[in-house]
Amino acid sequence: MLLLEAGPRDTDFWIHVPLGYGKLFARTDVNWAYESEPEPALNDRRIFTPRGKVLGGSSSINGLVYIRGQREDFDGWAVPGWGFDDLLPYFRKSEDQSRGADPWHGVGGPLAVSDLPRHELCDAFIASAMALGIPRNDDFNGATQEGTGYYQATASRGRRCSTAVGYLRPAEKRPNLRIEVDALATRIHFRDRRAVGIEFRKKGEVHTVRAGEIILCGGAFNSPQLLQLSGVGPRALLERHGIPVVHDSPGVGADLQDHFYVRTFWRCRKPITLNDDMMSLRRMALVGLRYFLFRQGPLTVSAGHAAAFVRTRPDLKRPDAQLYFINFSSAKRGGVLHRHSGFTCAVSQLQVESRGSVHLRSADPAAAPAIRYNYLATENDRRVMIEGLKLVRRIVNTAPLRDYVRAEYLPGPGVQGDSEWLDYCRGMGETVFHPTSTCRIGAVVDEKLKVKGLRGLRVIDASVMPAVPSGNINAAVIAIAEKGADLVKEDA
Ligand SMILES: Cc1cc2nc3c(=O)[nH]c(=O)nc-3n(C[C@H](O)[C@H](O)[C@H](O)COP(=O)(O)OP(=O)(O)OC[C@H]3O[C@@H](n4cnc5c(N)ncnc54)[C@H](O)[C@@H]3O)c2cc1C
Repeated sequence: MLLLEAGPRDTDFWIHVPLGYGKLFARTDVNWAYESEPEPALNDRRIFTPRGKVLGGSSSINGLVYIRGQREDFDGWAVPGWGFDDLLPYFRKSEDQSRGADPWHGVGGPLAVSDLPRHELCDAFIASAMALGIPRNDDFNGATQEGTGYYQATASRGRRCSTAVGYLRPAEKRPNLRIEVDALATRIHFRDRRAVGIEFRKKGEVHTVRAGEIILCGGAFNSPQLLQLSGVGPRALLERHGIPVVHDSPGVGADLQDHFYVRTFWRCRKPITLNDDMMSLRRMALVGLRYFLFRQGPLTVSAGHAAAFVRTRPDLKRPDAQLYFINFSSAKRGGVLHRHSGFTCAVSQLQVESRGSVHLRSADPAAAPAIRYNYLATENDRRVMIEGLKLVRRIVNTAPLRDYVRAEYLPGPGVQGDSEWLDYCRGMGETVFHPTSTCRIGAVVDEKLKVKGLRGLRVIDASVMPAVPSGNINAAVIAIAEKGADLVKEDA
């Protein structure tokens, strides 16, 4: 078995430090660092789009938040074999839950999941959300997602657990697995509609290997790109780029979904945020020492610390927005922290309706594809963001969190009405990195994840999801991969 990875091995120090994701946010040696096309609903801004380009993929650079989604997401896919009850055994199988096993959680799996350290500000956020009637929830991945509490992270003893750490490291010991890094897959070869080989570039040389079966797991941008480069995709697009059509499949690169994300920033009265730690050399040194000696402290925290999964309208049956509470603030994600004591509270919509696309910009495999998110395309998508942001302001202005606030830094008092909140979304909104559905089951692959109309080719990654689940998607991608592995074994 041959595994091709376009990026390097995951040896970079910051990959393994949970808070190190900020350092990798724009590093092009381990990150594709894409830019979207201008987004029409976001004042034509291009949205910076990090993606892991390293063993472990995006799980090596992600924010470590462990969320599975809601039962209704998977049941709503309406694909036989892919409902929540079908996937729950795979969520459990993949998991090594530090709290122990229960009907929802597994132990002994490759993916370490553990609790985050408690923090005074997070406790205050949770208490304020509860004061507004949002129930306490100590397990967003248990019986119900709704409520407020702490996230869990894909980490163990203060170290990131990526898919490279959890899955690949042990698998690499097997004699039948060869891993090629810095190897960019450029084209799949077909004979009589069967995938028979793959071409890749490494150190300027082109290699071709024959294959019995090819499994694409390049993620929601690169899997459709490689299919299109290989002649599998919408006929008109392929012809425009002079690529011979192997299989006209309009769904390849269509239907992109993602979670849209808008942050608000708050000045804090007490010097207890990470911003404060980073403003003092002594405190910075203490943070480093605590991590190196005990694997504890701020460096062990994921991209969200506390959260609330909420319904933005009381008549809804399930949460439609996710609120992130983060114990620091910065103008740019992955950039320097504000030079004042501050925290962030952000909103992302859960059941997104808008859909975009990923299409070749060029027939050159090394060129980035054209990513169109098409955020905020529907009335409901706009409304949920507005209501979610208003709720954030209400929570932060409720005791006990209110007593920690010196001022609202952004958006500030100028934003009050719905249209001002929407303008704020248009000016500030960005991706929270959950692209899916560009090779979705039904349109591009079948229920066994085989590319329809062809043989010897599967896709197993976030692109096969019919719709984006409600929350961070790494756990769901891994459950899909676990089930995909069983499907491959069944056929073998
Ligand atoms: C910055 C960031 C933060 C995130 N935070 C969270 C979070 O906190 N919690 C969460 O649940 N999810 C998070 N996610 C999302 C989650 O990590 C991804 O959805 C998930 O890892 C996607 O898995 P995948 O297998 O579909 O693709 P990826 O993990 O992106 O893997 C694709 C792999 O294929 C390789 N590849 C692509 N094209 C080629 C080619 N042509 N040749 C060879 N190799 C190729 C890539 O280099 C990469 O290694 C985050 C993502 C990012 C980028």
